Amino acid sequence: MSAETPPGAPRAPNAKSGRSAAGPRRPAGAPVAAAEADAGGFTGTVSGNRALAIEEPLLFEQGSRQRCGVDLPDPANFKPRLGGLERKGAIGLPGLSESEVVRHFTRLSQKNYAIDAGLFPLGSCTMKHNPRLNEKMARLPGFADLHPLQPLSTVQGALALMDALAHWLKQLTGMPAIALPPAAGAQGELCGMMVIRAAHDAAGQNARRRVLVPESAHGTNPATAALCGYHVDSIPANARGRVDVAALRAKLGPDVAALMLTNPNTCGLFEPEILDIAAVVHGAGAYFYCDGANFNAIVGKVRPADLGIDVMHFNLHKTFSTPHGGGGPGSGPVALVEALAPFAPLPWVVAGPGGFALREDAVGDAAHTIGRLKAFHGQMGMFVRAYAYMLSHGSDGLRQVAEDAVLSANYLLAALRDTLTPAYDGPCMHECLFDDGGLRAFDVSTLDFAKALIDEGFHPTTIYFPLVVHGAMLVEPTETESKGELDRFIAAVRGLKARLDAGGAERFRTAPHYSPRRRLDETRAARQPVLRWSPPAPREAAE
Ligand SMILES: *Cc1c(COP(=O)(O)O)cnc(C)c1O
Repeated sequence: MSAETPPGAPRAPNAKSGRSAAGPRRPAGAPVAAAEADAGGFTGTVSGNRALAIEEPLLFEQGSRQRCGVDLPDPANFKPRLGGLERKGAIGLPGLSESEVVRHFTRLSQKNYAIDAGLFPLGSCTMKHNPRLNEKMARLPGFADLHPLQPLSTVQGALALMDALAHWLKQLTGMPAIALPPAAGAQGELCGMMVIRAAHDAAGQNARRRVLVPESAHGTNPATAALCGYHVDSIPANARGRVDVAALRAKLGPDVAALMLTNPNTCGLFEPEILDIAAVVHGAGAYFYCDGANFNAIVGKVRPADLGIDVMHFNLHKTFSTPHGGGGPGSGPVALVEALAPFAPLPWVVAGPGGFALREDAVGDAAHTIGRLKAFHGQMGMFVRAYAYMLSHGSDGLRQVAEDAVLSANYLLAALRDTLTPAYDGPCMHECLFDDGGLRAFDVSTLDFAKALIDEGFHPTTIYFPLVVHGAMLVEPTETESKGELDRFIAAVRGLKARLDAGGAERFRTAPHYSPRRRLDETRAARQPVLRWSPPAPREAAE
């Protein structure tokens, strides 16, 4: 667009609103630094836009109360029928044409990085490609247009799919019962821990008040235990990033309700002593809860029931490739051993001679249920997508999902071993973990490095998690990335490191340079969020 815009130059004040893009209502936006002027003394672009990236004010800033997007005459002989309750003042909505509104949202959507736009190397999140076949199946009118209150005779196909999905999940876990309702992994945890609590209560074991959680656990684990009224007791990791069995044994006692363990754990490492862990937990009369968010690393290779696990949630949206993020729907079914099955949440699918039905009331074999976790039966669209993913892979293909996910992560680990500093020795499972050991000499932080990755066209890795590793960078490539894409990521990381070696640290501390917004004050954005827009007074007067 303009020869006087050097790459990475900050934008001029917003031409449309006359205010700086980082004006007072956007404290989270980093102030635009002074640009280097070109030979003519110009900085930025005349429009405030950069190449084809257009500055995007709010709809309210773009519109005007004096304009209207529709052109209808006032109705003749209009008599309000609201008995004097009608609005007196203006409604306060901005007046815009349809094309202005469509362009606004389309431009915003283009600023949103997505798995369909590029690699999402986030660890502990499993952002894998979501096959279009899944989407096509989930949009079939017979699934997409159902209402949860429809008569059961009209939704037999949907119930059959739920039953078949549960059947596969039973096969994959070796457990006899599946609770489909939980809306995400975190709600699956809540479901599992409520079931454990109900089982202990039913056995007169209500003095069990403690839940053991490894230090490296995802934050939802201790949060779930606390929400269920338990005291959370953390178990330290050993130098190899695994649960210290001696420390676990020392913490166990008659007041322990459960161990919550993630396997592979959040450092991307398999817990090789899991059978001993299960034995000591059971020996103490406690249950063994497994956070199954990392199931993609072992799916089809080992059945959790054979590892001594009593209850495990799945994240269908991680392991079985359903789109998630940005608060989008998840799905967190829970697998239960025989002893815990009677406490499963309502409703569940039952097969009878007249077809499928839903067990909806706490009577008969549901007398001990923990009740309902949500209004209906779970996330139907996610069930369809996950089932489509399973069917398109088959049982051998699901095993290969785990093998490829682990291979991809080890490929990255091996390729970057001399560029970044691995947090632990030895191979990893589905994600690889680095610390900031190699960055500290340059006075560059994990955050700086992550921001520099944005400039290179890559979404950052997970950073500063797990907390047990200093300046952690957790990378999960998943099985759906090609070797070519992994090589591009490796080249970018190696290239950034070479720049550091060549004395280019300063640029990292101010990255990103090429994104629509530069370095944000994330702490201030979190602590003092500005959630309310108020009309810019001077502009109002000018119109
Ligand atoms: C993602 C994740 C969770 C939480 O799952 P949600 O579906 O996001 O609620 C819990 N534990 C681990 C290890 C995870 O990776």
